[in-house]
Amino acid sequence: MSKKNKNKTYSFFSFLENNFDKAAQFLSIEKGILEQIKACNSVYSIHFPVKIGKKIKVIEAYRVQHSHHKLPCKGGIRYSIKVTQDEIMTLAALMTYKCAIVDVPFGGAKGGIKMDPQTISVENIEKITRRYTSELIKKNFIGPGIDVPAPDYGTGEREMSWIFDTFLSIRPGEVDALACVTGKPVSQGGVRGRKEATGLGVFYGIRELCRIKEDMLSIGLDVGLIGKKVIIQGLGNVGYHAATFFHEAGAIIIALAEREGAIYNKKGLNVSNVILHLKNTGSILNFPGAKNIENTEKALELECDILIPAALENVIHKNNVNRIKAKIIGEAANGPITPEADEILEKMGVIVVPDIYLNAGGVTVSYFEWLKNLSHVRYGRMEKRFSENMNAELLQVIETICKKKILTEEKKIILRGAREIDLVRSGLEDTMISGFHKIRELKKSIGIKNMRTAAFVFAINKIIDSYERLGIFP
Ligand code: GLU
Repeated sequence: MSKKNKNKTYSFFSFLENNFDKAAQFLSIEKGILEQIKACNSVYSIHFPVKIGKKIKVIEAYRVQHSHHKLPCKGGIRYSIKVTQDEIMTLAALMTYKCAIVDVPFGGAKGGIKMDPQTISVENIEKITRRYTSELIKKNFIGPGIDVPAPDYGTGEREMSWIFDTFLSIRPGEVDALACVTGKPVSQGGVRGRKEATGLGVFYGIRELCRIKEDMLSIGLDVGLIGKKVIIQGLGNVGYHAATFFHEAGAIIIALAEREGAIYNKKGLNVSNVILHLKNTGSILNFPGAKNIENTEKALELECDILIPAALENVIHKNNVNRIKAKIIGEAANGPITPEADEILEKMGVIVVPDIYLNAGGVTVSYFEWLKNLSHVRYGRMEKRFSENMNAELLQVIETICKKKILTEEKKIILRGAREIDLVRSGLEDTMISGFHKIRELKKSIGIKNMRTAAFVFAINKIIDSYERLGIFP
């Protein structure tokens, strides 16, 4: 445990240090290298003025590059009134480990602007986003080979478009400019499948866990997702998509929690109808057939098989952890469990699937988008038709040899060449499945129960390898 934790002066970054130190016990490596991996390499704290109406407002913002062991750095930009340097440093560090786990060759970074976008007009959000981007450009904190932002809490495709447009205006003619930011709309160089990638990655990760008989037996559950009771906290981009995929796979979404409260129906909630209700009424509460839970935090404590916190950090802590009844917790959000709560959950026998693995689907598909932008061609464009023609010829040969006609419906399935969305999804699925097994095998080989510690050991090992091979510049 770090000194800070002993003295009970917790910060979010010290939570992460705590997890790091736990994992470091399993590594015999020079302390200096570990210290270097732990530290944030560059922290850029910015204050800039923006004219809002007739008044000038000073905006507080950050971009933190946690690790330069691989470049570019990569990580989202969040807009939230709760943004602090400590939070952005921690999230940047999480990105480093996340990228290492899912084999994305980037260092971790994160940005944040301290504001509540829900209380600011679109024009002003655009103004602030563009000014922030120009501040990053001035200090060389953004660029296809330097640092590549993406969406995060409170930001989305719209903001990424503005960032790209600002970058290109200041750097006209830069042929790879599209790769300066990911999570863009498809019409602006984005990749199909990015929007739902984090939620889908969460789904793939939990589905893989639920496929393993040994693990399911250990918590008294059956194999598979069908009929499993799921609670999702947070219906933003990540939570919404995760909920949709679980629902489609036959799991029962018994509760959904949002800021204003939660809704519960033990028979299951239809996610798309809840979203429709949210759009029509401005709240998930009073959804037909569901019970309202006014204190939204109480939703985390309901009886369920799988709990997915998909909103902000530190929602499961020492004061509520003993009331958690879930058997599996999937960390779709970054850092939703404090270290104290994590230790208690381990003792309670709950399987915690950690953020640094489980929510890495977003950055994985961001990596695909970045590659697409650098190659300047849509995935599948060169080979889709070719494989369809080859498949057609193959089918013809099979029909001739077997003297049998293949049904038109079957033909359609076999003939289909891969589209961009097919390739992105299969790349994501493969990444999440192989990431899960790498962590699980390591966990078994070092004889620990905690998946987070195993994930950290895996990630740190990989970064150590980079440092050792690169050497240290004098
Ligand atoms: N903000 C997302 C995350 O925390 C995505 C980062 C990215 O795509 O670069 O993982």
